[in-house]
Amino acid sequence: MVGTSAVSDSERDFILKGVLSTIKEIVTAQQFDMWFSCLRVSSVTGSSITFVAPNSFIREWLNSHYNDLFSSAVYKVLNSSREIIFSTEEEVFGQLSSVSFAPGEVFPGKRSHEENYTAPLYKYYSFENFVAGPCNRLAHAAAIAVSESPGLAYNPLFIHGASGLGKTHLLHAINNILLSKHRMKTLYLPCERFINHYISTIRTNSWDSFRSFYRNIDALLIDDIQAFENSQGSREEFFHTFNTLYNAKRQIVITSDCPPESIAALEDRLISRFKWGLLCSIDNTSRETRIAIAEKKASLWGINLSHEAASYLAKNVTGSIRELEGAIARLSREEKITKNSIALDRVRKIVWELSGNKKYVSIEKVIKAVSERFNVRVSQLQSRCRTRSLALPRQIAMHLSRKLTRMSLMEIGGYLGGRDHSTVIHADEKITKMSRKDKNLHITLQKLESELRK
Ligand code: ADP
Ligand code: MG
Repeated sequence: MVGTSAVSDSERDFILKGVLSTIKEIVTAQQFDMWFSCLRVSSVTGSSITFVAPNSFIREWLNSHYNDLFSSAVYKVLNSSREIIFSTEEEVFGQLSSVSFAPGEVFPGKRSHEENYTAPLYKYYSFENFVAGPCNRLAHAAAIAVSESPGLAYNPLFIHGASGLGKTHLLHAINNILLSKHRMKTLYLPCERFINHYISTIRTNSWDSFRSFYRNIDALLIDDIQAFENSQGSREEFFHTFNTLYNAKRQIVITSDCPPESIAALEDRLISRFKWGLLCSIDNTSRETRIAIAEKKASLWGINLSHEAASYLAKNVTGSIRELEGAIARLSREEKITKNSIALDRVRKIVWELSGNKKYVSIEKVIKAVSERFNVRVSQLQSRCRTRSLALPRQIAMHLSRKLTRMSLMEIGGYLGGRDHSTVIHADEKITKMSRKDKNLHITLQKLESELRK
């Protein structure tokens, strides 16, 4: 049945079901729900089989803990051995996005429309596994309200915040409830996929099927809509989709890495529609929330992390939760190898290694690089002088310092003219927004950043 070329969808499903039913006999029901039920098979060849996990942490976990189990389950189903490859939605989607659609197809791989509605339940991304704190309380509460009363509570619900702070997690958590409790026909999709579908439809001219695909659903959950920035036609099409769904009281949930008005080129009519419902942000997490998240993740992953170790992680891994999760994934791998409970010095070592990879930069270095690039003196950047020719470089220095150094907002403000933290936030947001619109500025920032990280 399985040659060196890819197999059909139904064969893939058959193999997946067979493998999962073998695994189900071995692991506990809770483990099965958490780690295995959300898997898909993306390809089967004569030598390998690729399983797709919702994120890199589940992939990592399966790879380090269950590779042998998968090998033997696959052997049982196919009667011959295969290399087991674990991949993520993002990786597979990244590959697929470069593949064009055949006429009449929705997504590559000859899937029927019906199949695409039934996104799997991602138990990992559940409300139970989401830690609420001051940074995300409103978004969390709104997401629960929407999942309890879809179409009625807040419509649309628009959640924005920097990368890795839990937007996709909340989107799936809502989707899980809409699917399991309300038995709705929902569509979760990254915005990129909408855009790719739009582009392929231009070629095939199959607008009827495009439109009916998006309009005959009970709920639309669209992730990362900042991607609309570069695609006017798809924005236009989305506008009509939005109106149709909204008028039919279908729930719409949207995420973006910035507020709607900061998405360059987004038309006012779309911005105002996004504001019809509830707009909420997820902000940077506090240390307490990060401790709670570290402890939650450790218990989900079944690793023994002391409160002291969790606090150390939370204090030192201060970027996105994705990084915190990455550190815990590393710890879980080490624990498996050493079979020891995790000692604080192990945690220290991992944090040190992780920050070594990231290379934090000193603020002095940032200020010097900006002064050279914009031909102003370091002392001018650090002065209180407010002339226009200094304002922009100073704001750029604040933006880069926030991104590249470990300094607090207060400290950054202190270094750059004795400004307070709100001035630094304002400068950072302004430069982020400007660089979306101004290509030259964008390139300048990228160059500065890569020189500084060297
Ligand atoms: P975003 O979509 O905002 O970039 P994700 O939703 O992908 O971020 O989150 C990145 C990772 O961090 C996910 O694995 C998610 O489970 C985890 N995460 C983020 N915020 C929280 C939280 N408050 N509680 C538990 N896990 C979280
Ligand atoms: Mg996301």
